[in-house]
Parts: sequence; C-alpha cells; structure tokens
Amino acid sequence: MRMYNRRYEKLVREEIEQVQLERLQSTVQRAFKNIPFYQNELKTRNVTPSDITAVSDIAKFGFTTRDDLGYNYPYGLFAVPLRDIVRINSTSGIAGKPTVVGYTKNDLGVWVELLSRLYFASGITADDILQFSFVFGLANWGRGMAAAAENIEASVIPMNFLNPEKEIMIMTDYKTTCLVSTPSHALHLVGVLDELGVEPGKLSLKRAILVSEPMPAGMRSRIEEGLGIHVSSGYGIPEAMGPGIAYECLEGRLHIAEDHFIAEVVDPQTGQSVEEGQAGELVVTTITTKAYPLIRFKTGDITRFILDDACPCGRTLRAIEPPTVRSDNALSIRGVKIYPSQIERIVGAALGEIVPYVIIVHKVRELDELDILVEEVESLFSDEIKVLERMIAKIKDDLWEILGIRANVKLVEHVTMEEVRTEDSVIMRNHTMKE
Ligand SMILES: [Zn+2]
Repeated sequence: MRMYNRRYEKLVREEIEQVQLERLQSTVQRAFKNIPFYQNELKTRNVTPSDITAVSDIAKFGFTTRDDLGYNYPYGLFAVPLRDIVRINSTSGIAGKPTVVGYTKNDLGVWVELLSRLYFASGITADDILQFSFVFGLANWGRGMAAAAENIEASVIPMNFLNPEKEIMIMTDYKTTCLVSTPSHALHLVGVLDELGVEPGKLSLKRAILVSEPMPAGMRSRIEEGLGIHVSSGYGIPEAMGPGIAYECLEGRLHIAEDHFIAEVVDPQTGQSVEEGQAGELVVTTITTKAYPLIRFKTGDITRFILDDACPCGRTLRAIEPPTVRSDNALSIRGVKIYPSQIERIVGAALGEIVPYVIIVHKVRELDELDILVEEVESLFSDEIKVLERMIAKIKDDLWEILGIRANVKLVEHVTMEEVRTEDSVIMRNHTMKE
C-alpha cells in the first residue's frame, strides 16, 4: 500500500516508543526552559525534565485544558521567540479570549507532512483534482490541507464556501475527483445534487475527505451512497496541526501519527488511564512542534484505542475509534466547535445582563443552523424598539466576528425545551432558564 512516510508509518512498537521517548524528552526540556506555565506545573509536582525516562512518565504531568490556553493569551505558551514564528492562527477559546497558536517554519512542514500522509492513506495521488469547501471558521484547516495537496502534486481548486449550486457546477465542469470538506456540507451537497437532478455517476468524483466534525456511520453511508464515492476522514484539533493527528486508511482505521503525538485515553472525571480498549477522553501531547508544545492536552473528545494493532494496510501506528461524542457540551456547527459558555458571554455582553435563552442547533437542508431564542424579560423592555433591535443585531454580529458563525436570534415571550424539540436538534438553555 502507498504510504507517504514508509519509514515512520511502519516502525515496530519498540522503535515507535524509542522515537516517542526521545522526542518527549526534548519537548519537555524545551517547555520547561521556555514556558513558565509548564515550569510551574513541573515544580509543583516536584518533577524535573530528567525524571522522564519512559513514555509512561508523561503521567507525572498534570493535564492542560482549554482554559489554561485561554489564561495564557496571547503568547504565554509559545516556546520560541516571536521572530521564529511564521504563522499565527487564532481559534475561538473558552476563557473569553481566543486561543493563539503559533507555528515555526519547521512546524508548518510537519503539518504538511501529516496531511500528505492523510491524502496517501485515503488513496489520493498526483492525478487527483481536489475541490475544497470550508466555512470561514475552518479557513486554517483548509489552508493546511491545500498546502499538503500541492505537496503531493495533486491539483487544488482552492475554493471557499460558495453557493452549493455553483460548487456542483464547478465539480462537474472541472472534473473534480475528490471533495475536501466537512461531513455536514457533503451531506448537504447530496441533497443539492438530487434537487438539480444531477446523477452522481455523471460526476468524476471518486472520494471525499471529510474532517472537523463527528461523522456517525449512518451519515457516512448516506454521503457515500448519495455521491457514489468512498469517504475518508482525519482527526485533529484546532490547537495543533488541524486534522493531522490521526488519519484514516482504506481499511477504515484511524491511525495516530505516533511519531508526532502521544495519545492517551483517560477517564474524563478522574483523569486516570482507562483500561486498554475502553472508552475515555483523548489526551494529546505534541512531540515535534517547536512553537506551541502541548503537554497532556485534554481534547474533550471521547474515543477508544482499537485493540488489534495489525492493520492490513501495513501501518503499525495505533488506531483509535473516530470520536463521535464529547466529554463536555461543545456544539458542532457546520464543523466549527462552539461552547455554550462562548455564546453566553456574547449574549450577556450585548444585552448587558444574563437573561434566559435557548440555543437550538438543527438541520436545514442537511446544514446546521443555530437559533437563539432570547426571552423578553421585563428588564429588557425599552420604549424604543430600536434599542432591542440593536441588541439583537449586536449578538448576531459578535457571533459572526468572534466565533465565525451565523445565527438566527429572536426575542420570544417564553419558550420551553419541549416546544422547540425536534428529532435531530440539539437544544440547550442557559442556566438562568426556567421551564
Ligand atoms: Zn490501516
């Protein structure tokens, strides 16, 4: 089978562990020397970098959370001087500030390598024509994936989110062979194809690489059947290398790039390692990134290790089950992860107080829509309807500017969860909400 980096993708277990240990030691050294956050972390635990003599010693560290990243805004977790940084990506954080992730030139090279592996693993070659479709909030991922596609000399149609009819037109006329997007968008295109009366067999499309949001088996097969293609996926987090942490081979296994990351699966409550093969929260340590090392980062994604390591594809890298649930209550809206606390901050800031509201994520023509129904409490009333309209407009603007999502925001007299519940919707209310 084709592999992008045969040397590292086929290491025997002892070799992988040796590579991981050496890289972990140098990562810990660097973090200890340059980042006060990790320095304090080790000091409070009475550990020094020289105490790391086996990969399992990683457990001597505490976890790093998304809150920790927020508290160190903007550059507190950078391990190199800013002059060595060539790219700065911001992702919406959860501590009120964005999370700022830096990359050195070398780091970007690693990113390209990881995504090139993803392409090779999913059968993409220099003969393929790749069509990209990513929403605003995923621009960084799209950019990384385009760079890697060019690296393997495939043709790239660097398209942003256009209207779906136009995407189908380009797909037909340009003879696109692979769609690179999110599962929900691919499913949406299935519906559009149907409406336009375009037979999937008329397209040149053979594959899709769909990332950034959970893809339950039923959804995957609807996309595969609807477009007449094979779907592959990758796993990643915005805090490190986009979707390059694990990549799916043609056998359907999601292999972790273990020469670049150490993965652990822990009980989300106790933090203890779960028994091998049991479900728990994925914890990731980066061992090759220079600018922004993450040590024991809690991803919030629930997964398990696949026990039988021998994959027919020949890769010896361990595989995980594709995460489909999260340990926290993050919402996935068109592939962009949003935390309810982020919405709460925006709504509260616009209205000047915390009022009851309900968040509804539902599907319209297979695409996620976000509705926010704000209750008209007495304190909000104003003689001027314009004041209220301005507040609603501010919520919408801020959601777009800060989180990169569009929402329908409405004032309602009163709303109960039951009134708005539908089969495929996710509904949440903020804490002050009364039924
Ligand atoms: Zn495999």
